[in-house]
Amino acid sequence: MLLTISTTHQPATDLGYLLHKNPSRLQSVELAYGTAHIFYPEATPTRCTAALLLDIDPVGLVRNHRGPAGEGFALEQYVNDRPYVASSFLSSALAKSFNTALNGTCKDRPELPAQRWPFEATVAVVPAASEQELRRLFEPLGYAVAVETHPLDPAQPDWGPSRYHTLRLRHEALQLRELLSHLYVLMPVLDNDKHYWVGESEVEKLLSKGGDWLPRHPEREFITRRYLLNLAEYTRPALERLLAERDPAAPDAAAGERQPEFADSPAQAAPAAEQAPAPRRNLHDLRLERVAEEIGRLGAKRVLDLGCGEGKLLRLLLQIRAVEFVLGMDVSYQALSRAHDRLHLAEMPPRQRQRLELVQGSLLYHDPRLAGFDAAAVVEVIEHLDEGRLTAFEQVVFARARPQAVLVTTPNVSYNQKFEQLHAGAFRHTDHRFEWTRAEFEDWASGVAGRHGYRVRVEPLGPEDPDVGAPSQLAVFELE
Ligand code: SAH
Repeated sequence: MLLTISTTHQPATDLGYLLHKNPSRLQSVELAYGTAHIFYPEATPTRCTAALLLDIDPVGLVRNHRGPAGEGFALEQYVNDRPYVASSFLSSALAKSFNTALNGTCKDRPELPAQRWPFEATVAVVPAASEQELRRLFEPLGYAVAVETHPLDPAQPDWGPSRYHTLRLRHEALQLRELLSHLYVLMPVLDNDKHYWVGESEVEKLLSKGGDWLPRHPEREFITRRYLLNLAEYTRPALERLLAERDPAAPDAAAGERQPEFADSPAQAAPAAEQAPAPRRNLHDLRLERVAEEIGRLGAKRVLDLGCGEGKLLRLLLQIRAVEFVLGMDVSYQALSRAHDRLHLAEMPPRQRQRLELVQGSLLYHDPRLAGFDAAAVVEVIEHLDEGRLTAFEQVVFARARPQAVLVTTPNVSYNQKFEQLHAGAFRHTDHRFEWTRAEFEDWASGVAGRHGYRVRVEPLGPEDPDVGAPSQLAVFELE
């Protein structure tokens, strides 16, 4: 069983501090059922990889009565997948080997755990019913997921695929603690064959390692049930506590604005959207209508909706006669499948269906599919990107894709004080990486325009307050 974690954050060898394991040495940690070896196959300033190799002792498992029950066949106690697949053994090994990192502490470099770095993690191998199951679990957490499904027997292709997969996860910016806590919770969920008894302490572990993200995960019920082995006596109270720990009132909603429907946190968005019909047009709808109106005014025929989420703007764009083709792109598979459902793509008449395409992709990497468009909408997306990666975004959209017009909206942070339930200094959404004042947005927008040959104007979005301005802001860039 092998887990590797790589980063290209620089200096990449800082990973050693975070994991509290020296990159120049092999270290081994004794576990009840084997040994975990930690080493670094590569450790350069630009890329560093830590590997955790779990060497499980199948005989020891049997002696400790921790192996499978052995009901399948005579030698099952000795001949089974336990030594090879990622399971709750991996979770225990993670907790023991990377304890401080999993808790988000770093004695030598206390500033590191809060930093969000690009990470790649590979697990060989994970058991899962299908590739889809892996995607359902990891994509809502913001990972780009690649799965290699292993055949039952490479010499017998007719036998088809096995339930074993090599899983590769890539995330552009997250804390190592988050990555480890995702693996810690989700490996036993996938394996569904826990090696220890489930009890009260498992509920606490689940809530402590998953408390930050599980309440917003669309598969939270499945995860909780599987983690607790479907034991109703534990699952029900755990779910109740999880849901109680969810952010009770979203600030945007409190001020009459429905939350933007974040693909990566649909659990937050869905209730706000579904519970009470908004008494008046909410700010998010206003924002989308304004953007659609502007695209109509520009006479654009081919339109991009970048970070399209669940497709609300796509629907408005399809209503504009002049628009011949719309490409919706989002990094979240979950968001795209919701868009697919909400727009009833499967039942659309062919002529209408031809006008729309949905693709998965990231705005931080050059993508030739984005070239040749008249206009691009980027509605409430940039604040989800790390500020340091905005130059990559700028290159992708303004230098490479180069649509005739680009419409970018983002919150005006000065307006936050009007949201009574928002603590001073807090962002409107937990996933926002930054929020700007009007001056900061104008600064950024005019910089981008100047560097890429666009002219730009910035306008307020939503009802204006005399002191702090409007809740949101729109920049319209047009090629000169
Ligand atoms: N534009 C939509 C959704 C806004 S929420 C609307 O206004 O309703 C932000 C969206 O940006 C989410 O759907 C999220 O998945 C997407 N996103 C975040 N990072 C991204 C990236 N690097 N590339 C593409 N989309 C991204």
